[in-house]
Amino acid sequence: MPPNNKLSESEIRPDDLMQKQRIAMLSDIGRLLSKRSDFVLITCPACDSGKYSKCYEKYGLDYVLCQNCETMYINPRPSHDVLEWFYRESENYAYWNKYIFPASEEARHKKIVIPRVEKVLDLCSKYRIASEAILEVGAGFGTFCREVAVRGAFNRVVAIEPTPDLANTCREKGIEVIESSIENVDFSNGDKFDVVVSFEVIEHLFSPKSFLAACWNVLKDDGIIIVTCPNAKGFDFITLGSFCNSADHEHLNYFNPVSLTLLLQRCGFEMLECLTPGRLDAELVRKKILAGEFDVSHQPFLQQILIDKWEQVGEAFQDFLSKSGLSSNMWLVARKKTIEGGKR
Ligand SMILES: [Zn+2]
Repeated sequence: MPPNNKLSESEIRPDDLMQKQRIAMLSDIGRLLSKRSDFVLITCPACDSGKYSKCYEKYGLDYVLCQNCETMYINPRPSHDVLEWFYRESENYAYWNKYIFPASEEARHKKIVIPRVEKVLDLCSKYRIASEAILEVGAGFGTFCREVAVRGAFNRVVAIEPTPDLANTCREKGIEVIESSIENVDFSNGDKFDVVVSFEVIEHLFSPKSFLAACWNVLKDDGIIIVTCPNAKGFDFITLGSFCNSADHEHLNYFNPVSLTLLLQRCGFEMLECLTPGRLDAELVRKKILAGEFDVSHQPFLQQILIDKWEQVGEAFQDFLSKSGLSSNMWLVARKKTIEGGKR
């Protein structure tokens, strides 16, 4: 990674704005908990096992660990209907839209969107994917789709975005938008895609399995899916436990490379590869230590890497985590597997 492309958390989540964001987030959590009587108990979102043990409680929610595949998940959890209501009126999302995204747009574009587009295009080239049609599920502000379109890498770029304001933003960027969740889109006209991508969406969903089944349906035979989400076996997740900021009320599912592979296989995909290109794990733990929120006085090795020798070894340590499948941000690439007749 060239030095000028180094990513720090404050570039994409400015410190002063994040303090105020916390107020919006706590208000959202209060709203979510007011619907607690509508929460439902589920089996493991990855392997469907009903055996789990409790990890911890946070924000009034129970985080449990599947004893079979080690997926951590919120259980009981808000139903699909409660989630729709929750996100439609989310103060946290409104705050991000109004303040954090605009303030960090340039850094995000340069350091997140462009590398993301380039990685997707590299994977498409590696797996010899036709450059006909790409679909992004949960397109948000449309920054990924716009960059793909500008590069002319696909003949057709389509965004699925259920939130009306965000869908409008995508349209304003000239992107073809389907304003719906993928599970509710009628693709009976035979509309199919060579690639489906979804960035940081699956961890929010009530039913990741229904989501992946819908993605399978819209892919052409041998098309690929690229899914990114937190890796609950990554460095900052395991090190910080319940102190990890990514363990929050919005993330219902915390997969790991093995468990998400299992789910993809159950949904008719064949795994191609798993990457963990995260670049912030070490810094996230370091910031918790410096803020006095996480104690490493009994972990002198972490004290050395993350504090005492940070300037000398911090970057190399993060590099090691990313390259070794140990970062908390993961990418899974899988191919649609077809059986006789083209149906599962
Ligand atoms: Zn499981």
